[in-house]
Amino acid sequence: MLNKKTVDDINVKGRRVLVRCDFNVPLKNGEITDETRLVQALPTIKKLIADGGKVILCSHLGKPKGEPKPELSLAPVAKRLSELLGQEVKFVPNDRVVGENVQEAAARMQEGDVILLENTRYRAEETKNGEELAQELASLCDVFVNDAFGTAHRSHSSNVGVTGYVDTCVLGYLMEKEVNYLGNAVDDPKRPFVAILGGAKVADKLNVINSLLEKCDTLIIGGGMSYTFLKAKGFEIGLSLLDETKLDYCREMIEKAENLGKQLLLPVDTVITESFPDPIDAPVETEVVDADKMPADRMGMDIGPKTVGLFSDIISKAKTVVWNGPMGVFENPVLSEGTRAIAKAVADTDAITVIGGGDSAAAVNQLGFGDRMSHISTGGGASLEFLEGKELPGVAAADDRDAE
Ligand code: ATP
Repeated sequence: MLNKKTVDDINVKGRRVLVRCDFNVPLKNGEITDETRLVQALPTIKKLIADGGKVILCSHLGKPKGEPKPELSLAPVAKRLSELLGQEVKFVPNDRVVGENVQEAAARMQEGDVILLENTRYRAEETKNGEELAQELASLCDVFVNDAFGTAHRSHSSNVGVTGYVDTCVLGYLMEKEVNYLGNAVDDPKRPFVAILGGAKVADKLNVINSLLEKCDTLIIGGGMSYTFLKAKGFEIGLSLLDETKLDYCREMIEKAENLGKQLLLPVDTVITESFPDPIDAPVETEVVDADKMPADRMGMDIGPKTVGLFSDIISKAKTVVWNGPMGVFENPVLSEGTRAIAKAVADTDAITVIGGGDSAAAVNQLGFGDRMSHISTGGGASLEFLEGKELPGVAAADDRDAE
């Protein structure tokens, strides 16, 4: 369990509370296309309003690289959040995030009021954990709440630096939920514990493969990263994704699994195409071949039906499933079959399921299985680092429960 203070441990009545949220939502033509992160932030915000706090929200959005970029303004978030909350979230824009207008707005707030600051990454020092921004943010508040799991694996001014200048720093409900879910799933898993890794690159998931092998009973590897493993086993993989520099590592992991008596499952057949679809969702001709019979002029784009059967069978017996990364190019309707089948297998179990953020969450939601998973994480990178066993700086910076 999380040994950190949360919004339940503090009294915010009449106090200015700065909340670091993760409002990094996808936008298209100024419209929010997936509001999951806004919805997930509501419980903490509502609690602080109900307790009479003066609620000052901040977040980053996209990568403006330290400069004001109108298309990455948080204005659309203020608008949608007002609707979701049923009360005004006053947007107080300033290209430097904090400034005179912001100080004035904060000073004028009444209990239960909510304001939102501009994109914290308009300031270059945000991602360098610069002190000036941290101090300016801290000057706005009496209490700091970190509820941004999506950036918890980073040390930035608005989630870590600021805690150096505020006496009371606690975590919000979303952070608490994420950390407890992942923590319970990994530290004390109901067994069998099946971990499923997919996605594009082996390199991104090196450490997590290593640490999950020690914790889980079966590690399933699919998606683009599986071809480097198949190559490491000596198979032809044609034009499939390959990380040449990680072949030795893959061999080591196969050996490690054997030594630990763990199952490491790789695809036994694969869906191949002549080239990568362009655009990604364009119609595409496919064929299915066994994993050891890939032609040299084709690329593997999804797991095949035999693999679906093999993986689904193992998943059906699991009591804990942790899944990060799609099984194929799920953005294409033809090449999303493997990911869909695995999502269905995971949804059909009574296992505790933890789905990584980002692409995995998008795949599961897009394929219509979101409601049937016990937990979909709001942070891909943060959940991976957590699974590796790393301490998340954003969590570490909050007050310990027993400290005063
Ligand atoms: P999360 O954000 O949950 O951590 P992810 O980021 O781990 O997910 P990535 O490593 O980014 O996942 O990989 C996802 C991408 O991998 C998708 O865009 C998908 O199209 C691509 N992908 C999956 N399988 C293949 C494949 N066989 N060949 C090429 N690309 C693939």
